[in-house]
Amino acid sequence: MTVWLLGDQLHPEHHVLDGADRVLVIEAAAFADRRPYHPQKLGLVFAAMRHARDRLREAGYAVDYRRAETFGDALDEHFTARPGDDLRCMRPPSHGAADRLRELVAARGGTLSVVHDDRFLCSPEAFDEWHEGEGFRHEDCYRWLRRREDVLMDGSTPAGGEWNYDESNRETPPADWSPPPVPRYEPDGLTRETLDWVAERFDTWGELAGFAWPVTRAEALDALDHFVEHRLAEFGPYQDAMVGGECALAHSLLSSSLNLGLLGPREVIDAAVAAYERDEAPIESVEGFVRQVLGWREFLRHAYRRTMPDLTERDLLDRSRDLPPLYYDAETDMRCLSEAVGHVHDHGYAHHIERLMLLANFALIYGADPHELNEWFHFGFVDAYHWVTAPNVLGMGTFATDAFTSKPYASSGNYVDRMSDHCADCPYDVDSTTGAGACPFNALYWDFLDRNETRLRGTGRMGLMYAHVDRKSASERAEISERARTVRRLAREGRL
Ligand code: FAD
Repeated sequence: MTVWLLGDQLHPEHHVLDGADRVLVIEAAAFADRRPYHPQKLGLVFAAMRHARDRLREAGYAVDYRRAETFGDALDEHFTARPGDDLRCMRPPSHGAADRLRELVAARGGTLSVVHDDRFLCSPEAFDEWHEGEGFRHEDCYRWLRRREDVLMDGSTPAGGEWNYDESNRETPPADWSPPPVPRYEPDGLTRETLDWVAERFDTWGELAGFAWPVTRAEALDALDHFVEHRLAEFGPYQDAMVGGECALAHSLLSSSLNLGLLGPREVIDAAVAAYERDEAPIESVEGFVRQVLGWREFLRHAYRRTMPDLTERDLLDRSRDLPPLYYDAETDMRCLSEAVGHVHDHGYAHHIERLMLLANFALIYGADPHELNEWFHFGFVDAYHWVTAPNVLGMGTFATDAFTSKPYASSGNYVDRMSDHCADCPYDVDSTTGAGACPFNALYWDFLDRNETRLRGTGRMGLMYAHVDRKSASERAEISERARTVRRLAREGRL
């Protein structure tokens, strides 16, 4: 029996390894040819796999590390060496992946058994037992998981008295705020060699220089400690803030490690809760962080599982416009978008609010094809995997489905102005909606509500927004629509 470790299942103590002596790891290059992935994403995954191989060998496992074009080619080699072998792997979260792997193995005369995925706390069986049918919502799931996992609970009541401290998570830092430090993990020889190979072998989008992501379990643990010590305390208040020139603020930068299996969700949650118990971080920061890891991450994994394949085939708002070129070249005078796209290009990372309220929001109100945006997110981010990118982009970000979000996260420039310092230095006027020089977010926002009225007016909590629309006169609406047309044309032509 051989354990087949996939490239994003790299924790040295995953249960799938229990009792195993032989491990198969396949580095399939053709996988990375499917999209113009960010070179830091490819460098991260391949370097982390090669480091995991070496650590497993040091721990006494016999590791067959096979470099091939495809999984099929590598499995051909494996079954030539070990005819009829039985393989065991952790359940991959992407839709249909376990079946595809099983077929590949069966076609070569072997068997594949699939076991629980340790990268999540809540199994598919437990989630489905908790909630059958449609209409599942994050907040219910989060509270259920808090109780079930006994995280931040005082008996049956939430620690601090509230289930969530959203209200305290919307501050912006003062002008003289110094952002807490962010650790850098300088590439060692093996990582450097991997990055050089990526640069030579693949067509990519984004900047490779400056790569500093954790590629080993030891580095990922250090990144967790560093976050808890230096940034967790400020995570809560500044969770929704955006600051010019700042990529990370107090965010944890742990998603790439969590999604590769270098860190487990429970140890990440426990480290944050321990800081609260030591009085080193306030409840609004620790609860805010737990809500992301125990709440959103677990919830969206199941929302994805339960809504695929529909999720990636449909669009509730039926949009077909191409994503504007600024997503690919960051060439725009809009300071907020130029910063956010620049962060993605330079690091393969932008924090949650940049993703949701800038990059997704702009595409949403512009009317871009959400599936193209999903592709863009998928190739551009170091932490992107189908199971997590698709529900975030298509559910939360663009409202292509209403299966697990009650309304679109659409907003005008007013939100950007309130939560960032971008607008003060932007040539566009955030206080104007129409006329040359008006912030493009504004006309697009009102025009979006107008164009999608039939679908949205009765949806979730959209009533308040339509009350504002109703106060606009016919001539105001016509001017807005004209400005929105101009903004879309300029964006299309790369002149926004
Ligand atoms: P922090 O802000 O420090 O949050 C802590 C952890 O919580 C993250 O590391 C992550 O593991 C988890 N988390 C927080 N929010 C979410 C969420 N909505 N879904 C899943 N996990 C969450 N996350 C990805 O891991 N991969 C993606 O491809 C991805 N694409 C996104 C696309 C859009 C349009 C949006 C709105 C969000 C996306 N997210 C994605 C979720 C979230 O933005 C990132 O997990 C987060 O920004 C990663 O940075 P961080 O580690 O500093 O997170």
